[in-house]
Amino acid sequence: MNLAYANRPTSPIPVRPVLEGRELTKSFWVKQGRGLFAQRARVHAVEGVTVRLDPGTVTALVGESGAGKTTVARLLAKIIKPDAGEVLLDGRPAPEARSRAYAAQVQMVFQDPFASLNPVHRVRHHLVRPLQIHHMANGNLEAAVADLLRRVALKPPDHFARKFPHELSGGQRQRVAIARGLAVRPRVLIADEPVSMLDVSIRLGVLNLLADLRDREKLAILYVTHDIASARYLADTIMVMYAGQLVETAPSVTLTDRPAHPYTQLLLAAAPDPDRLKPPALAGRGAPPSLLAPPSGCRFHPRCPYVMEICKRQVPPSVAVSSDHSAACWLHVDPKTQRVNDKHSLATERDSVDQRNEER
Ligand code: SF4
Repeated sequence: MNLAYANRPTSPIPVRPVLEGRELTKSFWVKQGRGLFAQRARVHAVEGVTVRLDPGTVTALVGESGAGKTTVARLLAKIIKPDAGEVLLDGRPAPEARSRAYAAQVQMVFQDPFASLNPVHRVRHHLVRPLQIHHMANGNLEAAVADLLRRVALKPPDHFARKFPHELSGGQRQRVAIARGLAVRPRVLIADEPVSMLDVSIRLGVLNLLADLRDREKLAILYVTHDIASARYLADTIMVMYAGQLVETAPSVTLTDRPAHPYTQLLLAAAPDPDRLKPPALAGRGAPPSLLAPPSGCRFHPRCPYVMEICKRQVPPSVAVSSDHSAACWLHVDPKTQRVNDKHSLATERDSVDQRNEER
């Protein structure tokens, strides 16, 4: 997607995050094999991921399928509990489980708008329910429904309120799903691949709606996507995940103009670009690793064109490439400080290998 920008320059005034996830770690048990030979194995879905969502900003979480993006989104929404790490709302620990009060602050929009809407109910019903449950209508349900539909640009609202989901286009259904999320007046919207199931022609309308909600209603939005081009268009900050770990974070224009991590360079090289005349300089090779037994050291090393010996043995620390740009890659570690970092990384890697061996 070759798009003009919907993002803005970042504010020089420091703001307090609405929602934070600190050092989030999550694994899942899966069954491998059949019958008597079946064994339980652990999938290390997310390890040590830290995310902050500020009011009036869009943060994109980008990576291939299986990178752990959706798990981070579900951890922040409190749909699942972390094994380690914590979620903070306004700087205070969030409740253990997703309570009604938490849901009123943090709403989630899912990938498939058709599956998330009940086909036997009209649009009005989908919007009335959260308004009633959370007592948000102030005694005038019809006006509240109309207001929600106007906020997501479904006009005239009376016309759309009477429709069934199958009578709407994919983009209109996703707007209804977003309106339902807005019904409780949340401060955080977590949108998990909200445009990936929509036709290319209507994706831009939904992205512009999210940009509008960020600017008009000062929502903190987490935009989960595998499409780095749409992240550049919409997001203020991009965080890149690979194999369950965060590998690079920067303002979106900085990250896409000057990617520091080889995996981000690979993602950008793979993104379609009608203006590119030559084939991408960095050709992709291999596939993401199994999270049952991730590679030692840097998890990207089997695919990395710049791999060094140290990358195979030791986990790269996250280092500051510039004041607001960080990357977890040995290429950016000062050789003079490598010895100090080596000790830390060796200990971390040794601990995680020990833990994996114990679990087997
Ligand atoms: Fe490549 Fe090494 Fe950097 Fe990993 S740490 S991305 S293997 S150069």
